[in-house]
Amino acid sequence: MFINGERVSAASGATTEVRNPATREVVDRVPKGDAADTRRAIDAAAAAFPAWSKTPSSRRAQILMHAVAHVREHLDEVAQLLTSEQGKPIRDSKIEAERFAENIEIYAGLVAGGAMSGKHVPLPSQHAMGLVVRKAIGVVGAIIPWNFPLTLMVNKIAPAMAVGNTVVVKPASTTPLATLRLAELMTEGGLPAGVLNIVTGPGAVVGDEIIRNPLVRKIGFTGETGTGRDVARRAADELKHVTLELGGSDAAIVCDDADLDLAARTVAIGRFFNAGQACLAVKRVFVFDSVADEFIDKISARAKRLKLGRGTDPGAQMGPLHTEKQRAEIESQLADAVERGGKVVAGGKRPSGEEFGKGYFFEPTVVVDVPEGARVWTEETFGPLLPIMRVKDLDEALEKANASEFGLGSSIFTRDMAKAQRAIDELEAGYTWVNAVQIAHDELPFGGTKHSGYGKEHGTEVLDYYTEQKSVVVAS
Ligand code: NAD
Repeated sequence: MFINGERVSAASGATTEVRNPATREVVDRVPKGDAADTRRAIDAAAAAFPAWSKTPSSRRAQILMHAVAHVREHLDEVAQLLTSEQGKPIRDSKIEAERFAENIEIYAGLVAGGAMSGKHVPLPSQHAMGLVVRKAIGVVGAIIPWNFPLTLMVNKIAPAMAVGNTVVVKPASTTPLATLRLAELMTEGGLPAGVLNIVTGPGAVVGDEIIRNPLVRKIGFTGETGTGRDVARRAADELKHVTLELGGSDAAIVCDDADLDLAARTVAIGRFFNAGQACLAVKRVFVFDSVADEFIDKISARAKRLKLGRGTDPGAQMGPLHTEKQRAEIESQLADAVERGGKVVAGGKRPSGEEFGKGYFFEPTVVVDVPEGARVWTEETFGPLLPIMRVKDLDEALEKANASEFGLGSSIFTRDMAKAQRAIDELEAGYTWVNAVQIAHDELPFGGTKHSGYGKEHGTEVLDYYTEQKSVVVAS
């Protein structure tokens, strides 16, 4: 673990294996932290908070920039670690490591440029002056899933640290390695001890202590909707600030006037990137009847062409699923779709070949004519499985797209601005892309509606979720 500026073991001495999803080999072992270890990290963060929050913003920004410059010298090493524990292709890990550095720079830049400024508000009395000041919240707990361990961590810790909070991170049990190395590198680069702490261990133990400990004033959580609901309930006892980035089942609507090549290319990336294990992946497609056959042919051809391989293979476009449980879940959702009459038009099974024998590989899969009520329409599919439904028009597409408990992302492919406008107005989601999918730009606030969660990451809006505002009246 990484507590108060140094690597430490669990007090119990217990450890957990981290395995490579492509080979099942043990990559390393990390401490299996418990509640007492977590309290140690929280106490270190609480002790570091007064000095860090009182450090002038420009100086904090300088420290973060300096620390991340040191991280930048080791991005390849971080990317290798990420691929070995998560399974994703090395080029995707490099992008993720780069995004980690960029995000720290963005938020350091924003606070250096005055993002912590408040405002003066004229009051009716001539003898009183109103001010609004922004303050850091305190210790922040960041609980992170395994699909994008670095991106989903930095979305929280970059704004949190930049505005003066200190942080305790709990990575997913299967992806702690790159996270630990990054904390170590940031510290070598000058980040003061206690500002960024990492505790490895089970969610139900380490996560629970972070959620319940009164010293932690804000929880940034990304994970499954069920876990998120439970986080919100427990955090309510201490009335903590909570941001929840949860599951999704993003719909893509492909209209009769769409550029079908663009739609097929984009939806294929949107579904199969990260082996389909993305919250913002395209998980349901509704295509107008008149162009359905052509679209299905195009996207199936793309799915069949995707090159599967171990993340370390530089030619691999899609790696294994992260765990056997993930693969079994996708197989069971596909079996349900097929039992109900769905037809597999691409993929549908584990790939053959010795290189795939040990890892959790599954072919990029497209399934059509799956009736309503099947699990692929009602549950989140967290893997390379794309169900496509034919619809007669935009009314039907919008109705079906919105018939989901989730409301994370959504997209429409059309050249008709009127159709695009309706989708923008009516799709129930935190994000709508027109002729694009999935990329959550750093500049725009990101977060879900409905059971996909609440609160925002990214943009300048995230700063509101990692600060508190205080009103001040100065009377004479
Ligand atoms: P998960 O909910 O199982 O775990 C997420 C984190 O919570 C892990 O660190 C885990 O150890 C921890 N945790 C588990 N049980 C806990 C408990 N009882 N108390 C406290 N912490 C606990 O999710 P996952 O399987 O790791 O991630 C996949 C899910 O995350 C998918 O549903 C996906 O859509 C969602 N996700 C959402 C976003 C988003 O931004 N909306 C981004 C990525 C992933």
